[in-house]
Amino acid sequence: MDLRFLGATGTVTGSKYLLTAGGSRVMVDCGLFQGYKQLRLRNWDAPVFDPASIDAVVLTHAHLDHSGYLPLLVRHGFRGRIICTPPTYDLCRVMLPDSGRIQEEDAEHSPALPLYTEADAFRALDCFETRAFHQTFEPAPGLSVELLRAGHLLGAAMVAVRCGDTRLLFSGDLGRPNDPLLPPPEQPGAADILVVAIGKPEFVKGDWIKPGAAAIDVGINRVAAPEKGEGKSKLVGDCDFASCEPVAAAITPVPRGVGPMTIAMLMANTVIAAHRAAGKAVPKF
Ligand SMILES: [Zn+2]
Repeated sequence: MDLRFLGATGTVTGSKYLLTAGGSRVMVDCGLFQGYKQLRLRNWDAPVFDPASIDAVVLTHAHLDHSGYLPLLVRHGFRGRIICTPPTYDLCRVMLPDSGRIQEEDAEHSPALPLYTEADAFRALDCFETRAFHQTFEPAPGLSVELLRAGHLLGAAMVAVRCGDTRLLFSGDLGRPNDPLLPPPEQPGAADILVVAIGKPEFVKGDWIKPGAAAIDVGINRVAAPEKGEGKSKLVGDCDFASCEPVAAAITPVPRGVGPMTIAMLMANTVIAAHRAAGKAVPKF
């Protein structure tokens, strides 16, 4: 199994995860980079993967930083299915053509060249299929997927993927526990691999993590710390350390993108987790 992070690293937009298992390739989310021009320019880079080789895209929700690259994916040769909840499709039917129209209006190049067009967006919409929450489906052979309620936006889902004995969970953006209009995020069950970037302090509790799994926490949240003095604050991750630490074999915080030291820690923690899971003595590094 191979999992690649093709966006939303070092920034919060451009979510794209590519999961390859056996001969199957499924992308979770397909978002645009948004914000500063330096970021937006990354949308113009040639894809580092072959879109024609991807069997399906599963969307967490309709916000453009999770869905807005789909018209380009289709333009670059993707011919698979795009699967999401019915409300997410209803929102994409409005938002993707609208995004194409805005790209055409804002084209800055000379001659004017839009990132993609309204027509590209309609071609992407032809690939959509919907699945209800909790309806298990196979986007590609060997991969079974279930969409779980995430709150956040109409139709927003967490994507739970089962591949053999391994369960992966992609949180997408999560809503509040007490929103007046939307349901709270549901308890997703424990997973072997959590891809969680939600920006909510200490939201992920220990019961989301299978015993012995390695957790990678990319959250960075500033919260009040009255214990350090009046007006003081501290940084905490998305994982609730007190309940996660006894369950996970290792927690690696990744507060500011991935550098060589972080990669070294991730590799060391993965080896430590594997040894603990196998009941073997933990090696020293
Ligand atoms: Zn969102």
